[in-house]
Amino acid sequence: MGLFSFLTQDIAVDLGTANTIIICNDKMVVNEPSIVAIDRKTEKVIAIGEKARQMQGKTHDNIKTIRPLRDGVIADFNAAEQMLRGMIKMASVNSKFFSPSLRIVVCIPSGSTEVEVRAVRDSSEHAGGRDVYMIYEPMAAALGIGLDVEAPEGNMIVDIGGGTTEIAVISLGGIVSNKSIRIAGDDLTDDIQEYMRHQHNIRIGERTAEQIKIHVGSALSELDEPPADFIVQGPNQMTSLPVEVPVSYQEIAHCLEKSISKIEIAILGALEQTPPELYADIVNKGIYLAGGGALLRGLDKRLTDKLNIPFHIAEDPLRAVARGTGIALKNVRSEEHTSELQSLRHLVCRLLLEK
Ligand code: ADP
Ligand code: MG
Repeated sequence: MGLFSFLTQDIAVDLGTANTIIICNDKMVVNEPSIVAIDRKTEKVIAIGEKARQMQGKTHDNIKTIRPLRDGVIADFNAAEQMLRGMIKMASVNSKFFSPSLRIVVCIPSGSTEVEVRAVRDSSEHAGGRDVYMIYEPMAAALGIGLDVEAPEGNMIVDIGGGTTEIAVISLGGIVSNKSIRIAGDDLTDDIQEYMRHQHNIRIGERTAEQIKIHVGSALSELDEPPADFIVQGPNQMTSLPVEVPVSYQEIAHCLEKSISKIEIAILGALEQTPPELYADIVNKGIYLAGGGALLRGLDKRLTDKLNIPFHIAEDPLRAVARGTGIALKNVRSEEHTSELQSLRHLVCRLLLEK
């Protein structure tokens, strides 16, 4: 360990389209929606995370709420940097660290272009990171799920986040193939918004649509344990008078059908591209679902029945990537001072992208 290494703080960041999680000393110190509220006049940040989310759809002319990431990548560089800076500050308050020098492991979608990778690195550096390492999200998810990523065996991960669904096959510590589609949680939320407008003539915002998805969202129109109907309140489109509509999981299953079949087709496509030996491993072991989308009712059953391959939902799927990023972080640290952990070091060198 270096003489001044106590001055270096290590943090792991899962910078997601929907949620950002920061892990420090094995503890999750930040778990907030990836949203910032900014004053239009001064360009100053007013709120970050949950507080900014509460302002969403309720702002006046002087405030705008921004989701800096869209479709898995940074869409608004300045907002992303401000958000990351704010969240690192929150992490330092929550875990009581003060550090002039930050070492950050941050994960990136596997299909990222060079420019997109650069944007994440620059944001992390501008937000205070001195050493910035990066790891591909499906690899982080696999580590977080507890799979043996180094084994000469195929593992398939499907991570359904806010903006993208990432499908990857991992073997021997590397990504063999990956497929990323821009159909994920946000699209399901949009489908519901659109459906409520069309079918029930009621206008609802993104947050309400997400609530409907979480309460009565379903990938199957027949569930063994059906949820109770969800009561939606909002203005009638024609009259603007308030109405209440009970929404059943069956109608939501129907409205999500199109998007879910697109995810299904993408998984099939990824399987098609998988080399036969790895394919056999995957069929035997099953496919792992991670990300918030994995929580959609009946999705695992639907996919299992359709593809005839078992699908497993990762434990705590919303945090699988963050957990894995935390594991990678620990290994970066071990790289410095333990000789018996040489093999881990070896692994991390390969898992992490070039600095
Ligand atoms: P990201 O990594 O892109 O930030 P997450 O893995 O955090 O995304 O997942 C966020 C997505 O998961 C959101 O679209 C959210 O609406 C969705 N989600 C969260 N909980 C559920 C649930 N119970 N059912 C269906 N979707 C959910
Ligand atoms: Mg994610």
